[in-house]
Amino acid sequence: MTIYQNLIAGEWVGSDATKNINPSDTNEVVGLYADGTVEDTKNAIAAAKAAFPAWSRSGIWERHVILKKAGDEIMARKDEVGALLAREEGKTLPEAIGETIRASQIFEFFAGEALRLAGEIIPSVRPNIGVEITRDPLGVIGIITPWNFPIAIPAWKIAPALCYGNTIVFKPAELVPGCSWAIVDILHRAGLPKGVLNLVMGKGSVVGQAMLDSADVAGITFTGSTGTGRRVAAASIEHNRKFQLEMGGKNPMVVLDDADLNVAVEAAANSGFFSTGQRCTASSRLIVTEGIHDTFVASLTEKLKTLVVDNALKSGTHIGPVVDERQLKTDTDYIEIGKQEGAKLAFGGELITRETPGFYLQPTLFTEATNQMRISREEIFGPVVSVIRVKDYEEALATANDTPFGLSAGIATTSLKHATHFKRNSEAGMVMVNLPTAGVDFHVPFGGRKGSSYGPREQGKYAAEFYTTVKTAYTLA
Ligand code: NDP
Repeated sequence: MTIYQNLIAGEWVGSDATKNINPSDTNEVVGLYADGTVEDTKNAIAAAKAAFPAWSRSGIWERHVILKKAGDEIMARKDEVGALLAREEGKTLPEAIGETIRASQIFEFFAGEALRLAGEIIPSVRPNIGVEITRDPLGVIGIITPWNFPIAIPAWKIAPALCYGNTIVFKPAELVPGCSWAIVDILHRAGLPKGVLNLVMGKGSVVGQAMLDSADVAGITFTGSTGTGRRVAAASIEHNRKFQLEMGGKNPMVVLDDADLNVAVEAAANSGFFSTGQRCTASSRLIVTEGIHDTFVASLTEKLKTLVVDNALKSGTHIGPVVDERQLKTDTDYIEIGKQEGAKLAFGGELITRETPGFYLQPTLFTEATNQMRISREEIFGPVVSVIRVKDYEEALATANDTPFGLSAGIATTSLKHATHFKRNSEAGMVMVNLPTAGVDFHVPFGGRKGSSYGPREQGKYAAEFYTTVKTAYTLA
């Protein structure tokens, strides 16, 4: 089997490899991917540092052309790359192709942004002096990504980093290196100069840690768990380095008595269970007012009965497998915790056997949960959702905000008054009205508050806040 190697200083290197396993069929090895070392990481950082002076001064047309070419190739190969994504992560094929299209759109967006780089000229308060405000790239950016969006998250970090003139050392999650390799290969062939983009696949504790320990990494953009995020923060403060963290969520979706029942059920099913509940914006707390509670639970349960859990590549599958054995154990442990805490298991909770051996779990719904239970406070990151019964809108809002996280929040209501109040008073970075808590646009800011995020927003024009540093220059006329 071919070993997909790391890209360091424009060369494909590395011979030790790790197997990439298909969670829908654990007999299938998706590919062998290089297992990077501390030495590899140091070499990649040195290459990115050496490439920075030239790339930071490269023309905006060169950046535009490379980013555009990459976006075009990803779009042209969306079915093939989408199938790879479904095989390595377990997302259903339509979801995986959709994510691949999203990656292409992100490259298209930042190809455009490269042509729109601008500064400001402002009069000084003193006579005969001009003031210019410009943005400079940071230098070497360390990119560390999680397994749940194997192509979209790398795209939304790599594209702006390159657009604004930075060089990169990129470490994807060890579980899903395939799409990352594909994206780096595409950018390499699109004409990026040697050393501008370096890929070091391997373990977080080895490659990721070596990035955190390096004084030559000027910025780290990280998406992943809260625990690893804290390590990134501590190490970055030590090196006086800029950092950006996107971490977990425990996203609420409020359903009010006046909600359109179909809209509420569709949004809740999508938020909680699509992509196997493995989205940071997934809703795992459904906060439902008492007038609609029983009807809503009955309709959602009927909906869950219709959802097919099976091999991600099979047509007709609504929910693919859990990503791996470790995450499956976390999910089933939380199901036991929910039962012990006194929540009522209203649907699912069992492992499922399918034609191909994989990590299949029924969508699981708890009712009669309280917001103080561990299943309501801790991120599970699987297809496990709790319904919390509340008296009225005021209690619903207070319960929605009573969480250490603040990424996304939703409300299903036909009341303009409550929708408007919720948008203003939700303590989340992203608020959805009559929509799933997951599912966002690529040209507007993405990010959260409280324990979910730290640092500037990602995506859209707001990405410039992280990937550049502002310079103010004064000139005597
Ligand atoms: P982890 O924190 O375990 O891993 C994230 C990345 O960090 C991986 O590439 C991992 O490497 C790497 N890593 C692990 N240890 C270290 C270390 N010591 N130093 C540097 N890097 C390290 O998260 P998961 O991959 O398990 O992702 C799931 C989590 O991500 C969930 O909590 C989810 O909510 C969150 N997430 C948040 C999003 C958001 O935007 N808010 C979006 C998507 C996910 P490796 O795994 O290869 O060992």
